[in-house]
Amino acid sequence: MSPLHAQSLAELSRKLAARELSSVELSTTLLDRIAQHEQLGAFLAVDRQVTLAQARAADDRRAKGESGVLLGLPLAHKDIFVTRELPSTAASKMLEGYVSPFDATVVSRLGAGAGMVTLGKLNCDEFAMGSSNENSAYKRVLNPWDAARVPGGSSGGSAAAVAARLVPAATGTDTGGSIRQPAAFTGITGIKPTYGRCSRYGMIAFASSLDQAGPMARSAEDCALLLSAMSGFDERDATSAQRPAEDFHAAINVKREGAVPGKPLAGLRIGLPKEFFGQGLGAEVASATRAALAEFEKLGATLVDVSLPRTELSIPVYYIIAPAEASSNLSRFDGVRYGHRAAKYADLNDMYRKSRAEGFGDEVKRRIMIGAYVLSHGYYDAYYLQAQKLRRMIADDFQAAFKQCDLIAGPVTPTVAWKFGDKADPLANYLADIYTLPASLAGLPGMSVPAGLVQVDGSTLPVGLQLIGNYWQEGALLHAAHALQQATDWHARAPQGY
Ligand code: GLN
Repeated sequence: MSPLHAQSLAELSRKLAARELSSVELSTTLLDRIAQHEQLGAFLAVDRQVTLAQARAADDRRAKGESGVLLGLPLAHKDIFVTRELPSTAASKMLEGYVSPFDATVVSRLGAGAGMVTLGKLNCDEFAMGSSNENSAYKRVLNPWDAARVPGGSSGGSAAAVAARLVPAATGTDTGGSIRQPAAFTGITGIKPTYGRCSRYGMIAFASSLDQAGPMARSAEDCALLLSAMSGFDERDATSAQRPAEDFHAAINVKREGAVPGKPLAGLRIGLPKEFFGQGLGAEVASATRAALAEFEKLGATLVDVSLPRTELSIPVYYIIAPAEASSNLSRFDGVRYGHRAAKYADLNDMYRKSRAEGFGDEVKRRIMIGAYVLSHGYYDAYYLQAQKLRRMIADDFQAAFKQCDLIAGPVTPTVAWKFGDKADPLANYLADIYTLPASLAGLPGMSVPAGLVQVDGSTLPVGLQLIGNYWQEGALLHAAHALQQATDWHARAPQGY
């Protein structure tokens, strides 16, 4: 039998229900494992007392007759979600030591609501800006598959912790790929829901029209369990959708009309955007992606060619809109209300200037400057407004494609995880977001599913397959991913030594 740390949420849930295991035992095992693997840099905050108190509370709830499927299961949160019991820093010096007076909605739904136990707060790129976790103000996160390589970003701590079996699951946030790309780089499963599916209340804001929370775990089944609990309307987030809660765990096992034994996906049309398979796609990623698509065909799906003609424009559009919103959102960090305040200053303006200069890292400052520029008088029409128009056209392209297919598939990233320092140029980082940005700009749900391992420069590294659905089609994405994971074991591979 596999050790506790290697088991899925679904398996652990059965053991808790059968009283073969208590939440305190499970949490203790994982806390020890987290301490053993501190060198990975995945965590920014761990507090044994807090975790064990939550685990005891979950065990008490069960003893009193409660039986929720997530009750007593542990997870960790990206340090973008604010938490009452642990510090919330967004991996920035600006918020060092900050403790929120309230829990983010996603945190309270999974915690107080579903009864999950928090193992700690996970490292990420500062304010979720980045693709490698190298922008964390505190420390870097190592990729468990190869310690010389980045885990991806911005949810790099979440991805590394799940991949290294330190936690069975984690929350992440995705503005332009931050759940999907690190999931791909570490061989785990992650889903960015439709914009509005999960409340953004208590998520430290980066780009409000793009930010979405989502689960990261080792299987589509575990992601389904989490997404059901974390999503749903929240009156404290004006952009959260008024939709009834959905049981995604039931959705993954639904029998499709036309399905026959061995062909659970019969009739499913998967669209392959030609722009996702052209120049710029690395050979290893292309071949793993093709192999995963061939599995889908074996399961009964048909592959059709589609086009998303404005794919390339997603990069300039995103890198105008996201910084514009960031420059506005981050204006709240002024040294007055909360966060870092410079120790010495001459007057109020000097206090603002010094507090922000000291508190923010380089990438954050770069985005604030770009954002302020594209919103400024004289440039607003040329950049920001133009980007908004193109954003609409990118969303329209998807709707045209969805006339020919039910789901869209392609790579998550052009290459496997790169080595630390290899993309020191910020532009090189931005360009690598090409396949994740379109769905973000359109507000569509997107998923990263392990698609096998490849050999690169003597390292064994995972590749992710991206699945994109139409609005509110998370159930269909998870269903297809689950079918793939029933037929293959790519998602179950662990990095050596973990
Ligand atoms: N890599 C992208 C960026 O740097 C996406 C980040 C994210 O999704 N939070 O903005």
